[in-house]
Amino acid sequence: MAQTLYEKVFDRHVVRQLPSGQAQLLMGLHLLHEVTSPQAFAMLRERKLKVMFPERTFATVDHIVPTHTKLRPYQDAMAEEMMQSLEKSVKEFGIRFFSPSANENGVVHIVGPERGLTQPGMTICCGDSHTATHGAFGALAFGIGTSQIRDVLATQTLAMDKLKVRRIEVSGKLRPGVYAKDVILYIIQKLGVNGGVGFAYEYAGDLFDRMSMDERMTVCNMSIEGGARCGYVNPDQTTYQYLKGREYAPQGAAWDRALAHWDSVRSDPGAKYDDVVRFKAEDIAPIVTWGITPAQSVAIGEVVPAAETFAASERDSVREAYAYMDFKAGQPIEGTKIDVAFIGSCTNGRLSDFEEVVKVLQAGKLKVQPSVRALVVPGSVAVRNDMIARGWDKVFSDAGFMFREAGCSMCLAMNPDKLQGREMCASSSNRNFKGRQGSPQGRTLLMSPIMVAAAAVSGKVADARKVFNIA
Ligand code: SF4
Repeated sequence: MAQTLYEKVFDRHVVRQLPSGQAQLLMGLHLLHEVTSPQAFAMLRERKLKVMFPERTFATVDHIVPTHTKLRPYQDAMAEEMMQSLEKSVKEFGIRFFSPSANENGVVHIVGPERGLTQPGMTICCGDSHTATHGAFGALAFGIGTSQIRDVLATQTLAMDKLKVRRIEVSGKLRPGVYAKDVILYIIQKLGVNGGVGFAYEYAGDLFDRMSMDERMTVCNMSIEGGARCGYVNPDQTTYQYLKGREYAPQGAAWDRALAHWDSVRSDPGAKYDDVVRFKAEDIAPIVTWGITPAQSVAIGEVVPAAETFAASERDSVREAYAYMDFKAGQPIEGTKIDVAFIGSCTNGRLSDFEEVVKVLQAGKLKVQPSVRALVVPGSVAVRNDMIARGWDKVFSDAGFMFREAGCSMCLAMNPDKLQGREMCASSSNRNFKGRQGSPQGRTLLMSPIMVAAAAVSGKVADARKVFNIA
């Protein structure tokens, strides 16, 4: 019978059915970082358990790492404690650690793929919401909580419910100045932040077929923001070309065997889906959020919508968003003054994200407005080194951006990069929840990296297509 990738990969990893009705699922890869793992390791020690498959377990450090200095000990005592705790645990349990001291660290969802750890047909988990990123490779990737991290460390398995699968087809070509970030913000705007609850999202159609792996990662990364437990793209030649030669990718005869396996996990023609939705790429414009959820967004030429245009169940959240963001219905999003610009995060902290911005900065010779604090934060040390080798650090510095060390930085602000007071931030990250960027009153406008750059050089939300003459 024709099956989806989700069904195939899920079924192939079932260890047994549990009395609860859930399946016990083998996890092919477990990624760890400093924030959610210390308690899980403590629980393991309490019960005198070992890590069952240290060779399938990898760690890095991302949330707490300062991006203005590499000096240890960290000034924040709690950050230093988390770092030391992870260093101790990886040593004790024999886990490979991509550490700052070895210049191998980065956001966990950037480090895994760039090392070749993330592969098609895998089950992957990590104690972080944006683990869905890895679905870009045709993997089933789940964010998990601390007690589940403990379970996976001890058993390499997770108790999971089977999800429904929604196929999201986007056909046609994006207009110039529209990027993968706009595509996923558009999908979330249309389907809502709870639209994906109970679903895995399969992204399909010729738009995704043409996307690079970086772009697919941007899309899958935000599946969770649309309520989906995970999201994926079927693996293809783009996936295989990305993986070939990477450190943990199969080599030699194992590569050929892997290719046959990876081809076999693709969704079959004729597979049945629980739901199918279709969008046209040419309908998508650069998107900016105006509210406090990633679905509260408009195209750049549009105005903040009236509460009456939303379902009755959403109107309270809309009014809360107006009050928090200080917006009124009918107000154009374009022209909104910003204080901070942030380009980075596991959504948009990869080489190609910065490449687009470098191109327009070099062509336009524009500078960041003096009133704007602008940060460029590579998603990993590898990305950062690549950028320096290409001279992009200088391009950004010359344009008035601060070029920083790798890390999560201002995406969640569990490090010194924080908004102050009511600052308004144009951000390439993935969440615009209240207080997300470090100030309890801080405000976040999500958008693509190129739109962040346009805001930085304009001092206000602007249409990057006009600012940079993108046609
Ligand atoms: S970049 Fe942001 S979303 Fe991604 S792992 Fe770090 S804090 Fe989480």
